[in-house]
Amino acid sequence: MAGLKLTNVAKSYGKVSVLKDINLDIKTGELIVFVGPSGCGKSTLLRMIAGLERITGGTLEIDGARVNDVPPAQRGIAMVFQSYALYPHMTVRDNMAFALKIAKMPKDEIDKAVTRAADILQLTPYLDRLPKALSGGQRQRVAIGRAIVRDPKVFLFDEPLSNLDAALRVATRIEIAQLKEAMPDRTMIYVTHDQVEAMTLASRIVVLADKGIAQVGTPLELYERPETEFVAQFIGSPAMNLIAGEVIKTGETTTLRVAGGEITASVPTRADDLGLKVNVGVRPEDMVPTEDGQGLYSGEVDIVEALGEVTLLYFQKDGAAQGVIAKLPGIHTGLRHRKITLTADPDKIHIFSHGRSLLYH
Ligand code: ADP
Ligand code: MG
Repeated sequence: MAGLKLTNVAKSYGKVSVLKDINLDIKTGELIVFVGPSGCGKSTLLRMIAGLERITGGTLEIDGARVNDVPPAQRGIAMVFQSYALYPHMTVRDNMAFALKIAKMPKDEIDKAVTRAADILQLTPYLDRLPKALSGGQRQRVAIGRAIVRDPKVFLFDEPLSNLDAALRVATRIEIAQLKEAMPDRTMIYVTHDQVEAMTLASRIVVLADKGIAQVGTPLELYERPETEFVAQFIGSPAMNLIAGEVIKTGETTTLRVAGGEITASVPTRADDLGLKVNVGVRPEDMVPTEDGQGLYSGEVDIVEALGEVTLLYFQKDGAAQGVIAKLPGIHTGLRHRKITLTADPDKIHIFSHGRSLLYH
C-alpha cells in the first residue's frame, strides 16, 4: 500500500553533516533493514522518515507524494523504539488503545483494532494485565501492538529487540517475521546492529557508512557479492579475512600470489590488472585447511574457540594478514600452536583493490 522514495535526502545539524545523498526506492511490502556502525545515522534516517526529525535536503515521498513537510501523524507511519516505554498504570488493553482514544475513534472500532492486534501478537491472554506482570518480550510485543492498532502503511522499528536477552531476541525475531507475513502489504523499515536479524528478516539490507549508503541488496547479495571491503567486513561474523596479494595471471579467472603460495579466484580480471596489489578476501567459514603446504595462508594457531557446532581458529598476526580467522565446522582439538595452511574454493574468493571489489570494476 505504500512505497517510499528517498531522493538525495540529507541531514545536517547546523554545519555538521550527518547524512547526504541518500537515494533509495522502497517498494510496498518490503522489509528493509538499515545496518551500519554506531553513530552512522540509522536512527536519524528513520526519524526523518517518521517526521520526528527535519529533512534538511532532498525529497521524501510516500506513495508518490512529497511528505517532507507533512506532520508525523499524517504520514501513515508508526514507529517502535528500543525502549518500549509503556504506561505502567495502564493495562495492556489500555496501552494499546490509548492513541486511538486520543484520536477519538469510536469505542467499538477501538475494541476491534485492539482485539485484532492482540490476536496477531498472541497477547489476548494478557490484555487485562499491567506491564509489570509481563516479560520483556511481551512488553515489546505490546509496544508493537500500539503500532499495529493504528493500522499504519509503514512500520518503523529502531533496534526493537536490543533490550531483550538472547533467547527472547530469537523468539521475538521469529514473531516479527511472522507479523510481516501476516501483513504482506505493509512496508517495514527495521534498524538493527544484529547480523542475524538483518540476514533473516530483510528483503533488502541497506548498509550505511560515511554519511551515505555503502550498498543495497538482498542479504545473500551482500554476503556473496560485497562491493567494498567495508561491506565485506561488515556483513558476516567473524568478519571476512583480508590477505595481501598480487595479481599474477588475468582472464576469466585470476591467479594471485599471496604469502601462503598461489591461489586462483573465479573473479574475471583485465590484462591491465596484471601486477595489481590487492587484498584477497575470504570469509572465515570458507577457509579450508589443506595438507598441500601451499595455498592462501599459512600460520600458527594462536587461540582456539570451540563453540560445539563450529571451532574458531585465530592465527598469529603478521604483516601479510591481520588477524586471520578460520571457522571450521564441528569440534577440533589439539590445534593450538600448530602451523596450518589454509586454502579456499575459487568461488569463495573476493579481490579488492583500493577498497573496491574487482567484480564491480
Ligand atoms: P545511529 O542510530 O546509526 O547509531 P544516530 O542517527 O543516532 O546514529 O546519529 C547519527 C549522528 O548524528 C551521530 O554522529 C550523532 O552524534 C549525530 N546527532 C544525532 N542527533 C544530533 C543532534 N541533535 N545534534 C547534533 N548531532 C546529532
Ligand atoms: Mg540508533
